Amino acid sequence: MQNRSKKKIMVVLGTRPEIIKLAPILFELEKATNRFQTDLVWSGQHIELAKPFLKLFGLKPRHSFEIMIPNQTSGDICSLTMGKLSGLVKKSKPDLLMVQGDTTTAFTAALCAFYHGVPVAHVEAGLRSGHPDQPFPEEKNRKLISHLSTFNFAPTLLAKQNLLKEKIDPKSVFVVGNSVIDAIQWLLKHHPKPKTTNFAPFDPKKEKLLLVTAHRRESFGTPLENICKALVILARRHSNLKIVFPVHSNPKVQEIVLPILKNHKQIHLMPPLDYVSFIHLLTQSFAILSDSGGVQEEAPALGKPALILRDVTERPEGIAMGVNRLVGRETGRIITGVEALLNDPVEYKKRARVCFPFGRGNAAEKIVRILKEKY
Ligand code: UDP
Repeated sequence: MQNRSKKKIMVVLGTRPEIIKLAPILFELEKATNRFQTDLVWSGQHIELAKPFLKLFGLKPRHSFEIMIPNQTSGDICSLTMGKLSGLVKKSKPDLLMVQGDTTTAFTAALCAFYHGVPVAHVEAGLRSGHPDQPFPEEKNRKLISHLSTFNFAPTLLAKQNLLKEKIDPKSVFVVGNSVIDAIQWLLKHHPKPKTTNFAPFDPKKEKLLLVTAHRRESFGTPLENICKALVILARRHSNLKIVFPVHSNPKVQEIVLPILKNHKQIHLMPPLDYVSFIHLLTQSFAILSDSGGVQEEAPALGKPALILRDVTERPEGIAMGVNRLVGRETGRIITGVEALLNDPVEYKKRARVCFPFGRGNAAEKIVRILKEKY
């Protein structure tokens, strides 16, 4: 490590969830400018989807690679990011490189830091589904990052146990909560109201809003078709149900979702929402049906039951608390899962309660405090 009065932390991010979850840590590092200097790098793994998120949090990357190419594979993201980041790390010589989560940007940046002898801090370490390809490539990405990291910031005790089972040095593991809760609290404080409320026309007095997101690679093809068919049947059976589905821009998602769901009176399709609108819409919904990782963490903090469109999850803490539930990607099971909430008020009340299985909103503060102690 170099002997600089201020420690240089290179923070590398690429996608929407990384921006959301690293923003609170960047804010906290900003408060400690006497100790740390941050160097923000955006790989551009996602461009159009991610830009509004950088803007919302006021983040201005010093380096943008914009590596996104049509039909990009994880191999493309890895080789292009490594190609650009390696020279930057060599020149900039950070004291620490910070990544978040499980994206290929995060894995590549951690590997790059390792090759250059730069210690790695991994935010949201230790999540494991136990299935090597669910989600793919994220499960392997996050496992590999753990083995490259000097600081493993685990969100929960379970995540810490996962790391210890893999013989990760216990001294490198710190349970701090998930910074997504910090991000929601920041958002609700700074944007207590959405900019517009008419993007999803529904009458809260008469209708129940079911928010839907589905775009994971494992859902492409038949599973996504099954999900859409379940939505059509649910709308047909429940005239008071309004389904709002921000549809991911990936053509593999659009080509399945649009033909089945467009022109349906109770189903409202729209482009992906900005974070403020999405979180406010979630606060107005009855429940959320989603294959997203972050949504499983956000929903309990807002008292909304999450029905998870996956067979396994690396975030079982919400299920253990009795609020989230796995409903898989088969039409019948999804319908049963939603109807259990629609038809049984006692069950709904049990599941629609505010709880914090993923931390209380002070993860960023804890992470920066630990870094101050260590440096
Ligand atoms: N999200 C959003 N607008 C949308 C859909 C999702 O702001 O239209 C947010 C959501 O609140 C969550 C994050 O995007 O925090 C999840 O992103 P994604 O599902 O792409 O990634 P994952 O969390 O599965 O890694």
